[in-house]
Amino acid sequence: MISLWVATTNKGKLSEFKNILMNVAELHSPSELSAYTAPKETGTTFVENARIKAKSLHAVTGGWVVADDSGLVVESLGGLPGIHSARYAGEKASDGENISKLLKMMQIRSGGNRKAKFVCAFVAYSPSGEEHVIETEFEGEISQKVSGKSGFGYDPVFIPKGETKTLSDLGAAFKNQHSHRAQAIHALKAVFQSQKD
Ligand code: IMP
Repeated sequence: MISLWVATTNKGKLSEFKNILMNVAELHSPSELSAYTAPKETGTTFVENARIKAKSLHAVTGGWVVADDSGLVVESLGGLPGIHSARYAGEKASDGENISKLLKMMQIRSGGNRKAKFVCAFVAYSPSGEEHVIETEFEGEISQKVSGKSGFGYDPVFIPKGETKTLSDLGAAFKNQHSHRAQAIHALKAVFQSQKD
């Protein structure tokens, strides 16, 4: 079993890692490290931000480390909220506040185009410091209103392509099979299976 440090304290993200890597990796998060402070995400892309987080955790823990940086990219908002997804409505904004701002902006700016996608970048380091970059996307559209209880972030307003319900309505089993992060975790699993260290 691989010991894997995941550079996030987001419980929603962690439970997705746990579900998919159940028999492959034992997961650790920075909340176990009293002396660790997460770095500022000063990058201009998802990959840059994932690399900043992965590097800083790898420097402290060694071993296998992965960082995820992800967000919602809305076509009619010129790609926003993008890398600012967690802080769209302000530095300490809740998921509900971010969603309210998104639905308001869609009313003003979308012009009927509700196309959106989740983007996910993983940067992983092996114990010897070899870097692996994984980038995935999950297409869909923004719903007119909030619906459903499962998941986190923008799940209650994201309708995956080909579906009529939001990700929150569709539930964890659906998300763990199809989402941007699920695709990336499965790709990471394949990296582990092709490695020996
Ligand atoms: P990060 O932790 O800096 O990568 O910020 C990711 C943010 O993007 C989250 O706080 C959510 O707002 C949004 N996000 C990323 N992945 C998802 C997802 O799977 N569902 C819903 N929102 C997500």
